[in-house]
Amino acid sequence: MKPMLIGGEWVTTSHGVENINPSDISDVVDIYAQAGRAETQQAIAAAQAAAPQWALSGPQERHDILHRAGDEILARKQELGELLAREEGKVLPEAIAEVQRAGQIFLFFAAEALRQRGEIVASVRPGVGVEVTREPVGVVGIIAPWNFPIAIPAWKIAPALCYGNAVVFKPAELVPGSAWALADILHRAGVPAGVFNLVIGAGSVVGQTMLDDERIDAITFTGSQATGARVASASLPFMRKIQLEMGGKNPLVVLDDADLDLAVQCAVDGAFFSTGQRCTASSRLVVTQGIHDRFVSAVAERLASLRVGHALDAATHIGPVADAAQLAQDLDYIAIARSQGAHLRQGGELVRRETEGYFLSPALLTETLPAMRINCEEVFGPVASVIRVRDYEEALFVANDTEFGLSAGICTTSLKYANDFKRKSQAGMVMVNLPTAGVDYHVPFGGRKASSHGSREQGSHAAEFFTIVKTAYTAA
Ligand code: NAD
Repeated sequence: MKPMLIGGEWVTTSHGVENINPSDISDVVDIYAQAGRAETQQAIAAAQAAAPQWALSGPQERHDILHRAGDEILARKQELGELLAREEGKVLPEAIAEVQRAGQIFLFFAAEALRQRGEIVASVRPGVGVEVTREPVGVVGIIAPWNFPIAIPAWKIAPALCYGNAVVFKPAELVPGSAWALADILHRAGVPAGVFNLVIGAGSVVGQTMLDDERIDAITFTGSQATGARVASASLPFMRKIQLEMGGKNPLVVLDDADLDLAVQCAVDGAFFSTGQRCTASSRLVVTQGIHDRFVSAVAERLASLRVGHALDAATHIGPVADAAQLAQDLDYIAIARSQGAHLRQGGELVRRETEGYFLSPALLTETLPAMRINCEEVFGPVASVIRVRDYEEALFVANDTEFGLSAGICTTSLKYANDFKRKSQAGMVMVNLPTAGVDYHVPFGGRKASSHGSREQGSHAAEFFTIVKTAYTAA
């Protein structure tokens, strides 16, 4: 049984939970010790005790630890990618790419540790000096989802440590393996005892204990809207700093003047790769009428050629859905869409393979209307719907007509429409002639409206969340 990391010690409990491979449910990846309230509180106490010393650590120490961790992640990307593909189900090349991204994020924040600077500002009062500096927040709670088992933890843990905070990290129930590997790497990279703690267990127990504990000064959360709302309401009484990244219903607009092949590639990649289980997935394809039929035929044809199967099989393009509950939800949404008048043009069927897994062929729904549930609620699976529109103006309206605002894309050869869309899209990230999913690791990531709350993650903008600004005045 794999233990947790609390106060620099590997700690085990009497209760362990199996980590099941969604490509082959007879394959148990490993068994992971489960934390209860007591272990979670111990981890918080360890972080609180370690935080002051770590806050005073120098940039070289933080740089060296983060650099060692990044180097090891990159050196082991094949092995860690296999673990990730096995526990989460994305295909091996995508899993390796995710591990690589995690390594690059650690190296980025290793360098950021050396670039921490403040400002000296002229005071409006003669003889007074003003310094504006950033200080660590203290103890940061990190609560992560299952769909990016190593990249999302990396983009929260690396900046938290870079800016001098102590961490209590709770991974999602489905993916303790990548989290454990990351904790092992950080421990051996030399993170001082208590500065980084890993607690594995149920959201309702471990996560809730973190929310209820006022010793946690800030929580960075990625996951569903419902849990995000809990994080917000539990944090308000403590005036705790929060950062929430939640769902999406991301539109990809395809205009009559688009390059058809490129638009199909953007749609198929954005909507279906990583089994559509990306918060930035293009779940709404908003297509103008002149290109609609050609676009739908070409996407359907491309989907029919993709093989769904075991994530570690080199012939597989799309891996399984993450678990039985997620599969049931995907099938449910397809049924709801059909009952509301949508046409299931392609896929949406259970697929049998040699191993028993949660295989679903990528589903394309056509003739859908903006008000249908399939276009309003996040499915989080290999399911996309097409909305036919008259022209660019209607496409822009439909793209923005959602409570979410994470990512949005447009395929067009017109500079006029591309620029107009970049300006008027109500999403945090806008893509022109690119899939809505797939972003760089060194620039801000995040959304608007119900998709996000708080300051941006990633790149140097991460400092906003992981530090507090201090303004100091000195009379000479
Ligand atoms: P989830 O909300 O069910 O779980 C997220 C995390 O919260 C898990 O670690 C879970 O254990 C924990 N949790 C559950 N109940 C809790 C509680 N009461 N207190 C504290 N923590 C609790 O989400 P999920 O199913 O793991 O992930 C899928 C969702 O994540 C989708 O909605 C997706 O859009 C979103 N997501 C968003 C982004 C983004 O950056 N915007 C990225 C990836 C995923």
